Parts: sequence; C-alpha cells; structure tokens
Amino acid sequence: MSGRNSKGSRGGRDSRGKGSSSKAISGVPVVTGQRFVCEIIGLTHEGEGVGRVEGYTLFVHGGLPGEKVQAEVVSIGKSFGRARMTELLAGSAARQSAPCPIYDLCGGCQLQHLDYAEQLRWKRQHVVDNLMRIGKLSVAGEAGLKNTERAGNSGNAGSPVIVHPTLGMSDPWRYRNKAQVPIGVAEGGLIGGFYEQGSNDIVEMDACLIQQEENEETVRAVKDAARLLDISAYNRATGRGLLRHVVVRHAQATGQRMVVLVTNGIDIPHAQELVSLIRKRVPGVVSICQSINTAQSPVVFGDETRVLWGEEVIYDEIAGIQFAISPRSFFQVNPEQTERLYRSAVEYAGLTGEETVVDAYCGIGTISLFLAQYAQKVYGVEIVPEAIEDARRNALLNGVTNVEFAVGAAEVVMPRWQKEGITPDVIVVDPPRKGCDGALIATMLELRPARIVYVSCNPSTLARDLRLLEDGGYRTVEVQPVDMFPHTGHVECVVGIQRIDT
Ligand code: SAH
Repeated sequence: MSGRNSKGSRGGRDSRGKGSSSKAISGVPVVTGQRFVCEIIGLTHEGEGVGRVEGYTLFVHGGLPGEKVQAEVVSIGKSFGRARMTELLAGSAARQSAPCPIYDLCGGCQLQHLDYAEQLRWKRQHVVDNLMRIGKLSVAGEAGLKNTERAGNSGNAGSPVIVHPTLGMSDPWRYRNKAQVPIGVAEGGLIGGFYEQGSNDIVEMDACLIQQEENEETVRAVKDAARLLDISAYNRATGRGLLRHVVVRHAQATGQRMVVLVTNGIDIPHAQELVSLIRKRVPGVVSICQSINTAQSPVVFGDETRVLWGEEVIYDEIAGIQFAISPRSFFQVNPEQTERLYRSAVEYAGLTGEETVVDAYCGIGTISLFLAQYAQKVYGVEIVPEAIEDARRNALLNGVTNVEFAVGAAEVVMPRWQKEGITPDVIVVDPPRKGCDGALIATMLELRPARIVYVSCNPSTLARDLRLLEDGGYRTVEVQPVDMFPHTGHVECVVGIQRIDT
C-alpha cells in the first residue's frame, strides 16, 4: 500500500549505496530488483528501516521497527544492501501519516511517518547504541535514569553512563529560524525550493512545515521580486545564471529578518529595485546582503559578503542574552530548544563563580556568554573570523567583561593558551559533525580540567571522542539528548564528563 506519506514510494537518495552493484554478489542472498518479505528490526539515523534476509542487512526505505513489509532491492553491496518498501504487510502502532504533502519527494525530514513520542524514544536509543558500540561504554538501563545520586558522583570509574530521555518540543513544528533555499531554472523560469531526493533537480516549494512561517513569507517575496525583475537563476549544469541561493533568517525574539542573496557574480541587475521590492514585501527586514560565490561547488556561501541595504547583522535573544548574527555565522536553528540545550551545558559545567572556563568551537559566543554569568573568566575560540567579531560585539552588547575571544582552530589556539599559562577548570566543546580534532583531545588530556562538557550533533563522533577521554582518565557521567531537529534523524546531546582523581 506504500503511497504518499509512507516514505516508501520512491527509492530516493538514501537508496543508492556507494560502491553498490546491480549484479549478483557471491554470498549475498538477493539481487537488485528482487522482491522479498522481512521484518523491520531497527531504524538507521537516516530513518531507514533495518531488515535482514538470511543474515544479510538491507536498509528498507519506508519501513519502521516492528513492521512486516514487502520490499524491492534497489542496490546491493558486500556487507549491506538498500531496498524500498513496496507493501506494508503489518504496520506499527507508531506509524502515522506525514502531514507534509511533499514528504516523499523532499529529503529534508526523515521521521514524519513516526509518532513524535516514538521519535524521541528512538533518538535516545540511537545515542545509547552509539555509546555502547563505538564508545564501548556501559549505559544504565531505564531504571538508572532515576539514579541522580550516581550522576552527581565524581571520579567513579566504571559506573554506567546515565542517558536521560530526549528533551522534546511541546509543539514540534515551525521551529526553524533559518532557511537556505537553492534557486534553479525550470521551463517556466526561476524556481526555488529543495533538491529532489537522489538528484540535483530543484523542486519548487512554497511551504515547509518545520520552517517558521516568516521565513516562508520572505523566501516567497524574494522569488517573486527576482521573477518580476527577470533576474536569472543559476544553472548548476552550465555554471551560468546569477541567483544561486536565497538564505533567510528570522530572529524570533525581536522579529528582525535578514535576506542573503547568494550570487554567481558581483553585479545584480536592477539591484536597487530588488532591494526596494524586498523591503516593501518583507515586514521586519533590517538586513539585505549579498554573498558572492562563483565556484562550481555545492558550498552555499562565497568568501565575500556585502551589505546591499540596511544592517550587517540582525539581533536575536536567548534567555535574556542578546546576540548579533551576521550572514555567515552559525546560530542554532531552533530557538526554543537552544535555551534548553545551553541550560544543560551550564548545569554540567557545575560553576561556582570561581572557575576559568574554555568554550572551544564557540561560534558567536552563545555558550560563552551563558557560562560567563556563573564563571570567573571564559575564553572562547572559533575558526570563522566573522563569528568572533559577532562574539566580541555580543559581549559588549550584554555588558559582559569576563570573556575573551580568539580566532583560530581550537586545536591550535588551546595549546597556545596552555603555554600562556591559562589553565581551565572546565572545558566546553561544541564541534561540528566530525567531532573534536585529535590534537584538541590530546591538549584537553594534558590540561586535565576537572570537568568537560561535550555538546554534540553527531552521536558516533561523540562516542569515539568519549572513548579517548575515558582512556585518558575521564568518566562520562550523564548524557542529555535534546531534540533540536524534530522529524529529522538528527539528535543533539549534552554530556557531563568528569576527571577521575586517583
Ligand atoms: N557553540 C556555538 C557554535 C557551535 S557550531 C553555538 O552553539 O552557537 C560549531 C562551530 O565550530 C562553528 O561555529 C564552526 O565555525 C566552528 N569550528 C569548526 N571547526 C573549528 C575548529 N577546528 N576550531 C574552532 N572552531 C571550529
């Protein structure tokens, strides 16, 4: 019955394994195109069901744990294959119909067909599985969740890690404060929306249910204005055409909006008319910028950013702290959950007002400014120079004087600080998906702070790094998964780690 909203009706991007083959492979019990029946026993972080045929693993697009499905093999490889569900034979009680009408076509969400409470439960399980499999950590069972006494003990090597239930949203829709929309050409002219799963074709999109409505409105206005003024759309095949991406932000606390036009060249024809149309049609717009990107690559922003009109930043606020955000700076996309994430980080930092704290990967200084309220001194380091400019501006804006920021790679700046005699009591890391650099972990182990707080958007690199810290004399005490990205396979974690004092 697999049809719309079941996530089973098309092969999709995730259905093509790297190095997979359409021919029979010796020892693999299925061939491409073959139909089979199986039970789904797990879910990958991409939201694919995990099935087995004679011990061989197939990732089944559309299947949910506990379901019995008929599926068709899309590709096979030596150790696993990919399939798509063709018929749901026995459904799970947790299956729901996805509210988004383009769910099957768009690759943005992976879990809309799973009940939200189950999504949260599954995200915790995904974290637990990674900690155990990659981190070789022992994790307390559900009963352990209530054992807060154990979580408070320091240096208790060997105690199982406590993984709390995922913190979810009460209304998990319309949460994103930033949209990054690829622009392309179709027969009718300029279109903008999303890349169709498994291809580089852009599909026009007007509504996205995880996007704040203000962003939808802004994107619509910019596309309309560009069409009206005949601004050419970028063609990824030829490298010709001007408008590549429209990036918009909405600061939820202040209502301010930013538009960034990513262009394949400097000159925008009718730039002034474009600016005035956007100003007329987008309430709250305070900043219209241009990012010039002439490289034929999937990277969105170019190196040069210009202000076409208005401010170079917009201002947002989290828990009473104000933040200036410039076009290329990282800012968490889910404001409601960000506050909860940062509160967990502050809690695990265990500050009394006496501590020296390092915030590595500090972005625009968000976590640093939170921590500064409870610490003696905070040092932040970040690789993007504009983000550090924002961070310094943010410290001034909030009258915070006990923070210092440096531009550079954390793994380079931290050893420098070490030589200068800066000895942190607590180190907070919040790295990108690839996790912490090995050199940074080594420096942390030399500095031996009493506590490390690890904020992670990728449970597998988190687990890898926790193993290194454990081997270096630290204990992972507790993990708080936070649902920053409902309906997608992503999960964010805050981890409290303590030094084992011998
Ligand atoms: N803590 C911030 C930012 C987290 S995102 C917040 O919550 O808003 C991760 C940040 O790490 C990004 O700003 C990215 O630019 C930065 N980054 C990536 N590699 C880095 C490195 N090697 N050293 C320092 N910062 C890095």
